[in-house]
Amino acid sequence: MEHEAGPTSRHAAGLFVPAATHRPGDGHALLAPVLVLNASYEPINVCAARRALVLVLKGVAMTEEENGHFLHSARVAMRLPSVIRLLEYRRIPHQSRALSRKNILLRDRNTCQYCGTVLPSSELTLDHVIPRSRGGSSTWENLVACCHPCNRRKGNQFPAETGMKLMREPRAFNLHTSRHIMRLMGRSDDKWRKYLFY
Ligand SMILES: [Zn+2]
Repeated sequence: MEHEAGPTSRHAAGLFVPAATHRPGDGHALLAPVLVLNASYEPINVCAARRALVLVLKGVAMTEEENGHFLHSARVAMRLPSVIRLLEYRRIPHQSRALSRKNILLRDRNTCQYCGTVLPSSELTLDHVIPRSRGGSSTWENLVACCHPCNRRKGNQFPAETGMKLMREPRAFNLHTSRHIMRLMGRSDDKWRKYLFY
């Protein structure tokens, strides 16, 4: 999603293009985080408003809360969701999530685990704590979000050899972690609270 952010994007069913006359800041409305609930109202994910809108337009999900922004096309104005709910219950494997760049960055909250800088996903890379060239594997426990300067500085060395220290021990991303992240993200959004804090 990170690379599809342009206002002229032809996603969201092709019809909908943000109007030119909206308030400042609305350009990012399609990237605003949306809480995704299972049919049972259990929070299961966070996605961008653009993706949420597609799910609603496809009839896969319905809007539970709106975020106050509109998306305009020639004929209609659509309210952007803040919380959506899947219409059909989906079984979610709670113990594990796919090991992916996106999920590692999500777990590490887009924060370089060596220097603590928070960066957009496009400016972060993944670092093997124990370098691959020295037997390190591609696992949840050995991959962390890392900025490019730190990644260059570390090279093929162990963190201790460079005097670099991890901010925290990398762990697998489980339901507990993801709910924790959803709560952190939801703290600023009143509409999420009733679904996350119970
Ligand atoms: Zn760094």
